[in-house]
Amino acid sequence: MARPPAPRELLELLTSATDRVVKKGADSAAADSVWDSSRAAKREIRVLLHLMAPAIQRCMYCLDSQGTDIDHFQPKALAPLRTFDWLNHLLACSFCNSNAKREAYPCDEETGECLLLDPSVDDPADHLTLLPASGKYDGLTAKGWKSITVFDLNRETLRRGRVRMYRLCRDLLPVWHGKVLRGDLKGAGDTAMTLREEPFGDVLRTLCRRARTPTVAELTYGEELGRALVAWRRTQS
Ligand SMILES: [Zn+2]
Repeated sequence: MARPPAPRELLELLTSATDRVVKKGADSAAADSVWDSSRAAKREIRVLLHLMAPAIQRCMYCLDSQGTDIDHFQPKALAPLRTFDWLNHLLACSFCNSNAKREAYPCDEETGECLLLDPSVDDPADHLTLLPASGKYDGLTAKGWKSITVFDLNRETLRRGRVRMYRLCRDLLPVWHGKVLRGDLKGAGDTAMTLREEPFGDVLRTLCRRARTPTVAELTYGEELGRALVAWRRTQS
């Protein structure tokens, strides 16, 4: 998901807050203290994160629950001076932030590269593969496998939610395509919006990616859904 640039007013708030962290000792306690008292900066960060977030303000890690928390991708305890770095802020649900990830920031021992997916930088498809009918993720890389473990991406609620989204796509995409073919553009727009605002947009993206040609799409998904996916891929994604 694309990260918009921080406006000048926000950058000024972030710079001034970082200066306060430095003056207080630039350690974890200083970061926590300044973060807790920086209401204006947090309000502005949240506004931008809501613009970035998938569907209706969903968590950027699990794509399911409401994103309620500002997550520091590199935890404040490990990088106090990145507490007010806009590139270090993501929107997370309380489960992903406080139960799953917490202070985790695993790195490759040789390269030092972080082994967690940053959804504002990485394309998850490079690291994870989704089996839509079972709702389960498998890893393609060390970063993918580590992210599945740390964020508990195959927890039962997520797995079942992805299966539900798979069924919804299977039912609604042909409806959407039928409206397009009939010239009912208002109705097609409403159906498209319904699909785009559902949690688990990763399921629809996976279906589209696999429908890379009309022949493959129809062989994989059958004539009706295959044609709808090719049309969606051409016009909506
Ligand atoms: Zn989450």
